[in-house]
Amino acid sequence: MDIKTFGVIGAGQMGNGIAQVAATSGLNVIMNDIKEEFVEKGLNNIKKILTRNVSKEKITEAEKDAILGRIKTSVDLKDMAAADFVVEAAVEREDLKFKIFEDLDEICADHVILSTNTSSIPIGRIAARTKRPEKVIGMHFMNPVPVMKLVEVIRGIATSDETFKLTWDLSEKFGKTPALANDYPGFIANRILMPMLNEAVFCLYHSVGTPEDIDTVMKLGMNHPMGPLALADLIGLDTCLAIMETLYNGFKDSKYRPCPLLRKYVEAGWLGRKTGRGFYEYK
Ligand code: NAD
Repeated sequence: MDIKTFGVIGAGQMGNGIAQVAATSGLNVIMNDIKEEFVEKGLNNIKKILTRNVSKEKITEAEKDAILGRIKTSVDLKDMAAADFVVEAAVEREDLKFKIFEDLDEICADHVILSTNTSSIPIGRIAARTKRPEKVIGMHFMNPVPVMKLVEVIRGIATSDETFKLTWDLSEKFGKTPALANDYPGFIANRILMPMLNEAVFCLYHSVGTPEDIDTVMKLGMNHPMGPLALADLIGLDTCLAIMETLYNGFKDSKYRPCPLLRKYVEAGWLGRKTGRGFYEYK
C-alpha cells in the first residue's frame, strides 16, 4: 500500500513529535486534537524545533518550509477520512482510546491501518473495539520523538503480517530502528523502565535520598543519560501513573503498585515538565 497521508491523533508532546518526523520523511500529515489551542501549541513546538535545526545548519530554511507545508491541523476527527495510515497519540486513558478507535473505524477507509502510540494499554483490547482487528497495531515512539531512534512495534493477537510489515517499513522510512514486542502490559520498554522510575519515587517517598541525589546515583553510578526522576518529569507523571496502573491491573502483582507519592503529585496537577512542576520545577 502506498502511504501518502499520515494521520496523527493528539498534538501533545508525542503527537507533534510524530507529526514532525512523518512530515520530514515526505508524507503529508494531518495532526488532530480536540481544541484549536492544542493543535496550535503542537504546531508551534514543531516550528520551534525546525527553526533551531535551521540555525544549527541541520536543515535549510527551504526544507523547514517544505516540512511545515506538509502538516495540516484539524480539530475534527472526520478529517482522518483522508489518511492512509493513522497513529493515535492521545492521553493514556483506555476509555478515551476505545472511543477514538471506534470512531476511526467508522471514519477511515477499510484498508487503513489504525496504530496506537500507547505506552502500555493492550493492543488486543483496543483492536477489539474495531471491525478491523487485523489492521490494529502498536507503533510506540520514544520521547523526544525526533531524537530517539527506537520504535517499539507491538503485534496484537489478531494483527496481520501485512499490517506488521507496513508498520515496520514505515518506522524505517522515518529513520527509526524498529523492535518487535508482543502484546503484554507495558510491552518491553515500559515493563522494564517504569518499575525502575516507580522505585526511584519510592526512594524519595522513604527519604532515602533527595531528587538530586537519586538522579546523580543513577546518572553517574549506572551511566544513565538522565536520572529517573528527571526522566519521569519529561515523560509526564500522569503518563507514568497510568502505565503503572496498567502493569498492576494487568499482572495483579504487587511489585507493580504505583508509589503513593506519584499518585499524590498527579492529583496535585504536578505532572512534570508539561505543567512546570514535578519532582523538579521548570521555568
Ligand atoms: P500529552 O498530554 O502531551 O498529549 C496528549 C494530547 O492528546 C493532548 O494534546 C490532548 O489534548 C490530546 N487529546 C485528548 N483527548 C483527545 C481526543 N479525543 N482526540 C484527540 N486528541 C486528544 O501526552 P503525551 O505524552 O503526548 O502522550 C500521548 C500518548 O503517547 C499516550 O498514550 C502516552 O502513553 C504515549 N507515550 C508517551 C510518552 C512520553 O514520554 N510522554 C512516550 C511514549 C508514548
